[in-house]
Amino acid sequence: MKTLFKHNGVIKEFGSGEDIVNEIADEFALSEKQKTTKLERIYKKENRIVKTPVWHRLLFRAADSLAKDKYVSRPSDTKILTQKKEWMLTENGYDEVLRLLKIPTKKKEELPTKSFEVQKIVNKLLRYQRPEKYNPIDKDKILNKVTKEIALRKRGFRQAVVEAYDYKCAVCGLKIKSPDLSIWEVEAAHIVPHSSNGKDDVINGLALCHLHHWAFDVGWLAIQDDFTLLISSKINLLPKGYGKIFDYDFLKIALNKRYKIFLPNEKEIYPHQNAISWHRENKFYN
Ligand SMILES: [Zn+2]
Repeated sequence: MKTLFKHNGVIKEFGSGEDIVNEIADEFALSEKQKTTKLERIYKKENRIVKTPVWHRLLFRAADSLAKDKYVSRPSDTKILTQKKEWMLTENGYDEVLRLLKIPTKKKEELPTKSFEVQKIVNKLLRYQRPEKYNPIDKDKILNKVTKEIALRKRGFRQAVVEAYDYKCAVCGLKIKSPDLSIWEVEAAHIVPHSSNGKDDVINGLALCHLHHWAFDVGWLAIQDDFTLLISSKINLLPKGYGKIFDYDFLKIALNKRYKIFLPNEKEIYPHQNAISWHRENKFYN
């Protein structure tokens, strides 16, 4: 399960040819002989002998028993969700790994590890039927309590948004991971913010780098209905040198052209006009 966790919660197979098989063997410090010892099975009817490494069989058995205990989903169940035959951590399994690795449960919010339950929400969010009349505000949204369902929904929102934007900032296109390749820099921003009861829908979301997330939230940036970027005129009041990283000015990025933000492939999940107009009227400094 720890190895599954290291692989973001999903693993293709425990069969031959998979790196994972050797990776786990190394963790158990198996000898070459232990890794390669083969098990012979005789198929009497067809009169043939099939040899498979015992180690593969053992790993498969282990995965199978984890699936029985509902710590992982079986490839057949995962396939229904992701079209890929993979073993995937369930929320139960995820909690168990965190316990084993002594990682606090609240870290789940930041970790990129996938789980079967969150993937279900992601699928629902990405296959969204875009409503014409959309209210980005959920007046019944619970803001100050975290139930299990709300926590799952939050992680589902984050994952769906960054996936929809291919892990790139919608404003500058920045795409980068941590050196261990586990954590994406990009964040899922609400257009109508969570604190204003904004819904956790992809059409009320934007993938933004840390800098542009901040700039969008405080009202430096906004988006027109045709998805061109707006920059607050207050920029002219900024002292010289503000907002600059060497020659790069992270706010003036699109000041002099009709600059369109990066959008998802599917039009259905583009930001909704009702959300971006709410943000222009309530958050943006014109
Ligand atoms: Zn950016």
